Amino acid sequence: MAFEKIPRYLVSFDTKNLKRSESDVLIIGSGIAGLTAALKCCQNHSITLLTKGELKETATWYAQGGVATAMSEEDSPELHYQDTMRAGVGLCEPEAVRVLVNEARGAIEDLIELGVDFDRALNGEIKLAREGGHSLSRILHSGDTTGSEILSTLVERIRTCPGIKIQENVFVLDLLTFKNRCVGALVFEPKNKELIIYFAKAIILAAGGCGQIYEVTTSPSIATGDGIAMAYRAGAEVCDLEFIQFHPTALDDKKSPRFLITEALRGEGAYLRDCAGKRFMVGIHPLAELAPRDIVAREMVKVIQKCKACGKKKGDYVYLDATHIPEEILEKRFPAICERCKESGYNLSKDLIPVSPAAHYVMGGIKIDTFGRASLPGLYVSGEVACTGIHGANRLASNSLLEGLVFSRRICAFLKDHINAVAEKDVFEGSLTYDLSRKKKSIAVPDLSADRHGGRQDLDKYKDTLRKIISSYVGVVRDKEGLKKALAEISKLSEEVFEIQFDEVEGFELQNMLIVAELIIQSALAREESRGAHFRGDFPETDDLNWKKHIILRRDLRVPKYMKVKDA
Ligand SMILES: Cc1cc2nc3c(=O)[nH]c(=O)nc-3n(C[C@H](O)[C@H](O)[C@H](O)COP(=O)(O)OP(=O)(O)OC[C@H]3O[C@@H](n4cnc5c(N)ncnc54)[C@H](O)[C@@H]3O)c2cc1C
Repeated sequence: MAFEKIPRYLVSFDTKNLKRSESDVLIIGSGIAGLTAALKCCQNHSITLLTKGELKETATWYAQGGVATAMSEEDSPELHYQDTMRAGVGLCEPEAVRVLVNEARGAIEDLIELGVDFDRALNGEIKLAREGGHSLSRILHSGDTTGSEILSTLVERIRTCPGIKIQENVFVLDLLTFKNRCVGALVFEPKNKELIIYFAKAIILAAGGCGQIYEVTTSPSIATGDGIAMAYRAGAEVCDLEFIQFHPTALDDKKSPRFLITEALRGEGAYLRDCAGKRFMVGIHPLAELAPRDIVAREMVKVIQKCKACGKKKGDYVYLDATHIPEEILEKRFPAICERCKESGYNLSKDLIPVSPAAHYVMGGIKIDTFGRASLPGLYVSGEVACTGIHGANRLASNSLLEGLVFSRRICAFLKDHINAVAEKDVFEGSLTYDLSRKKKSIAVPDLSADRHGGRQDLDKYKDTLRKIISSYVGVVRDKEGLKKALAEISKLSEEVFEIQFDEVEGFELQNMLIVAELIIQSALAREESRGAHFRGDFPETDDLNWKKHIILRRDLRVPKYMKVKDA
């Protein structure tokens, strides 16, 4: 389906006929980005926070390794800056990275004050771990369940804040726009199959990533790219979407989503071995197993293909070997990983663990400035759904929790002074209507109870087809031929799917996944070079002369827009 055929809204509506709710700030998402924004903004404004599952159903919950911050005496924001810039392979925005590393410590101190319990040594000092791409140890962690420790603390705090209205299990369908300004959101309440309008002076979108478009991913089921798709439909610019990070070491037990085995385990000394037992990263990169994720993932793909070709192994995996690390260290430092491996029949201290790369993180997203402002006035964006420019072509490990913390704090600081600057003429009054069928001039509220789709089986079939296409042609290595095929197949699928008026969340998610898939393919086709996580088999070299620029897509542009990386 060509971009111009993507409907502006996923359903027809008339705001006159719908229940409405108002607050100063509307926050979409309850991960680290959404909850940080809610806690900070509630000091000055009334807040409504919407989330499509329960508060804890987020990618944040599953984060293991931790949060990167320069804390030790030998470290500094400058070194963190350099490592981040290096990992991003020339595509990081220097100003945004400076903001990230300089404001990291304040954000961490806030978390500690809220009660987050990072691991400490006997002398009380925070313990710091090492991960890929970092030149020294700078990862704060809580065992191997850092995300859930942070999220539980934030959730506990949020629940006691009187100024925050929380709505769980509601699905944001679309961002409402009026006079080219984002004024709220159109929300589907699955329980009653009802549409509700939430108006606000500022909308903070913190809806996470899109890993679920891949067959093999570490991302939880909520990561269906809704935020990117709704912002694109509303006319906001999206950027750098060709850069999808594949995490090298997901446990290959065929479960979905895949269980991640944190890089911190390789930081602790674990090796990667091929089917003959050889450490294959030695000689490929000076950091061997701790090389940047894109390099490790690509080498793994090569090794897996070689091993399959020589007939020694049938599976799509290599081995992670932690057997030389003392059992008590493994059990103490990585209890959740030991437990989860055991559930799948592996003993981390005795067995080689089958691992393979899995889609893990989207570096691109909705383009924002260093105050979190999207190109669409009234819309602020934070967390994985945003493209701040800090990750460039490849995210440095443990920079994403930090990004959500730092940029949500900045948005709230900005709103404190600016939210009332919304001009009277921009405040939404009257009604907004949209007719999806485009046949009728007057507006009908959709009959959301009408069963016009083929049911659960069809939905699963569409999702499986989409995931197969994306995994086959838009994986660790891509080329023009495959991307063109993917585009044609996704377009065909979209033509069919967008004919259906869904009345359930999974149908809307499928539509969002198709839009995001198409945006990723278009961006990957446009970038005719290899850089960071985007590797083109037909353009294997990095081309700084022509490609040190971002690819930006916007609904009303027929061709991509390009933006040069700013000078440091
Ligand atoms: C297994 C795993 C391990 C990781 N480990 C680390 C790590 O160690 N360190 C690190 O820095 N990063 C790590 N990451 C990445 C990091 O966890 C995420 O990038 C980060 O948590 C994203 O936070 P977020 O707030 O942007 O989104 P999320 O935490 O994903 O939250 C998104 C929220 O948006 C809501 N939402 C989405 N769509 C809608 C909709 N249509 N309507 C209503 N609500 C909606 C969801 O329900 C959810 O509440 C890891 C990721 C995974 C998957």
